[in-house]
This record gives sequence, structure tokens and C-alpha cells, in this order.
Amino acid sequence: MKLDVDALRYLSKEDFRVLTAVEMGMRNHEIVPAELVERIAGLKHGGTYKVLRNLLKHKLVHHDSSKYDGYRLTYLGYDFLAIKALVNRGVFSSVGRQIGVGKESDIFEVATEDGTIMAMKLHRLGRVSFRAVKSKRDYLLHRRSYNWLYLSRLAALKEFAFMKALGEHEFPVPRAVDCNRHCVIMSLVQGYPLVQVKQLQNPDEVFERIIGLVVRLAEHGLIHCDFNEFNIMIDDEEKVTMIDFPQMVSVSHRNAQMYFDRDTDCIFKFFSKRFHLSFHYDKDGCDDSGSDLEEDGRPSFWSIEKSAGFLDKELAASGFTRKDQDEIEKFIEGDVRETVSSDDEDCANENQADNNDANAIANILPCLQLVEKEASSDRENGDNTDEHPDISVTKEPKIAEVIHIGDEINGSDDDCGTGSEDGIPVLTKRLNRQRQRAVAAARGGRKAVVSRNSYKDKGGSKSSHNSKLQRQSCKLYS
Ligand code: ADP
Ligand code: MG
Repeated sequence: MKLDVDALRYLSKEDFRVLTAVEMGMRNHEIVPAELVERIAGLKHGGTYKVLRNLLKHKLVHHDSSKYDGYRLTYLGYDFLAIKALVNRGVFSSVGRQIGVGKESDIFEVATEDGTIMAMKLHRLGRVSFRAVKSKRDYLLHRRSYNWLYLSRLAALKEFAFMKALGEHEFPVPRAVDCNRHCVIMSLVQGYPLVQVKQLQNPDEVFERIIGLVVRLAEHGLIHCDFNEFNIMIDDEEKVTMIDFPQMVSVSHRNAQMYFDRDTDCIFKFFSKRFHLSFHYDKDGCDDSGSDLEEDGRPSFWSIEKSAGFLDKELAASGFTRKDQDEIEKFIEGDVRETVSSDDEDCANENQADNNDANAIANILPCLQLVEKEASSDRENGDNTDEHPDISVTKEPKIAEVIHIGDEINGSDDDCGTGSEDGIPVLTKRLNRQRQRAVAAARGGRKAVVSRNSYKDKGGSKSSHNSKLQRQSCKLYS
């Protein structure tokens, strides 16, 4: 989605005041009645209507007069509110080129006054999901209470909280810098998504490191759930960084094993196909005689010693609560996430997003029954909403009495886990063997047959999509 931040520089205090009033109104209205916007914004002499026309011209709000005269925020309007808040906080001062298009996000470079460049991820939940849902209108009808802006905000908060907690546990993730609404600011990863890498010098080592990450995540009680070549970045030294955390679940999740296996499968399949690794488990390393378990030594979910809930405290510290987790899981779990592939049809859960869908989803923005909760959790968390000191609402009890704007405002492991003809000791033995395999897998107990060709060719034809992305650089006032 095009993010023309130019307009941001010319928006006045009143423009932001009215934009924020629309955001406030959306807490309990799908389409916010114009009079309510006026009442919240509190501009004199019908000034709100003039400002609304300006916001409409810049596509920051959408006008809907089908039932009554009303407005709602567009994603662009929401982007502006988040960017403005972060600029005011001094997190960055300019927005640069777009560096990524995820299936449910747009990623831009941003820079601080002193020239430090970071990455800004704007979540756009609903973009791909909508495509999946298009054929399931009933589903959508039953989900009318979901608001994509709200879900995007939740996804951003979740991503920020997980990135921060994982970083504190020394996982190779971008540094989580800040978060506001549906926007996450993080350090810029100097590398390429693995999907763009055609050759590696040490594919077996990179593979081991990546599988080791899945195992270590599970040991920390977590499963990535979208662990694939699109969400693993790799630099010139072949150092690995994982990204994209909104769909992570706990190992205590009812589908944990399936998610874990799907994550490992993606990596095995990708490395097998792209780097011609073949996987022969080194049987000398452990007692594996007579076993019909996996011959390729992939880690088994059940054999990993997990500490569920390990990160809970850290996550809560970032303002992401269990309630938030349940809420977002309802959406992601609701079979809405689409599985699309890159090299492998079964794996990668990614695709280029399509702006028409983004617009389409914006046009069906459903009503907001979750906002009361949102408003209260905002207050509890004291996190992502800005203070709005000069707007007050008098006749709308569902909206906070005084609203202010700041100055600017596993598959095969089943058979071993449940093998009915095996007695308990046998089962324990098998589980131990699997544990050994997982550890060996994570530490390099696998023989990989790799291409002898060890030159690097990072980028390749797939990277060309980046060059198609709009280039822009815009300094913002604070
Ligand atoms: P989505 O959730 O939409 O899949 P991702 O977080 O996977 O979004 O990001 C999409 C793309 O943006 C990545 O494949 C990568 O190319 C780029 N990207 C994301 N985060 C960063 C970052 N911190 N540094 C550099 N590039 C990034
Ligand atoms: Mg991604």
C-alpha cells in the first residue's frame, strides 16, 4: 500500500485533532456519525466539516453516507496517527523507502535525527486473510465484530512484546524499539530473506542453526508458527535473524505439535530443494536400532524439554496480556490465515499482498464491539495510546469522559508418543531416543549432502520485487 507521507508535513493541529476524533469514535461505531466527530473534536464554527473534507481529500478518512453521514479511518489515516505519535516521542524523524511487503504488513525504513536507520512495520491484518475469506462470506458475517484496525494493533503489540522478550533471551531477532497502534519500530536487519538466497557457503551449518532455533524456541515454551524462508533473514556472514512474530503460540497450545512440525518441515523442505541437502541421521550417535522413526533426524516436539509460560512475565511487561493473546488467536486460528507457497506448496505461509484486497478489506471494515475492551486495556497497559489533552466529550458515555490529544497530538511423532503396542518403558526409551535426536539435530548430528559449489549469490531474481517498490524519503516535523 502506498504510504505518501508528504501530506503528513502539511497537516495541521486541527487535522490531527479531527483524525483522532474519528479514531475515538470508531471505538464504538463502524462508521462514526459526523456530528459525533464534531462533538469529540470540538472545533469552533463548524471547523470540523472543513477539516473532514481535507482529510477525505488525502484519503485519511472514508466517507460513508449509506445509512447516515459518517466517517471512518482508512489504513492511511491510522498510519499517520501512529507515525505522528512516534515522531512526537522522538523515536524517529523521517520515513524513507519501502523495504518489504509482507503478506500482512508494509515495511519502511525510518531514520532518527542522527541518521540511524531502523525498520518500521505497519501491520495490515485482513489483507491476505480477506482473500482467504472472500469465498467464505458466512465466516465474515459471523466475524462482524472484528475490526481490522484493532486486530492490526493487537498484532503489532504482540510482535513488539515477543521481539523484546526473545531479544532479552538472546534469540537472534531485531531489536524491538517502540510500538504505537499497528506500528512496530525495530532495528534494521542487514541481510536478505532466505528466500532470496540462491547459494550459501555453508548450507549445512545454516540449516543446523535454523533448526536449532526452532528447538530452542520450543525449550522456551514457544512455537513460531510461520517459520520459513520468508521470515528468516541472512547476512553476508551467513548469520541468521528471525522475524515476524504475530502468530507465535505457546507449546501448550492444542495444536502445538502440528505447528512445530510444520515449522520444521518448511525448513527441511526448503533446504532440501534449494540447497540440495539430504538428511541422513547419524545412527552412530544414539541407540536407534529397530526404530521406525524418522530417518532424517528431524527434531521431535515431544522429546523437547519445554518450559511453557517461560516468557509470560516478559510479555505481560510489554503490555501484551493473555487476554490479548486469546483474542488474536481467535482470529489467526479461525482458519483465516492462508497457506500459500514459494518453492514448496505445503510450506511457506506467505505471499505478495495485493493492494486491491487491502482496499477491499478497508471497505468492509466491520463494527467495533471490542473497543470497550480495547479502551480499558489501553488504560491498564498505559502503552500505545497517546494522551489527548485538549479534546473532551460530553454526551457520549461509552467514550472516555475526557479524551485528550497531545500537543500534536510433528506428525510422525504421534506414532511414537501413542504407540499402543509399546509398553511404557519402551515408550520412554523411544522418547529418550527422540530427545537425543533433537539435540543431535540441533547440534549437528546430521550428515548433509550439499552442493560443492560454494559461491554466494544473494539476491537473485526474486529480490527484484524490492526494486519495484516505491522509493521515497520524507523528513517529518516533530
Ligand atoms: P509479514 O508479517 O507481513 O510477513 P515480515 O515481518 O515478515 O512481514 O516482513 C516482510 C518483509 O520485510 C521481510 O521478508 C523482510 O524482507 C522485510 N523486513 C521485515 N523486518 C525487517 C527488518 N527488521 N529489517 C529489514 N527488513 C525487514
Ligand atoms: Mg513474514
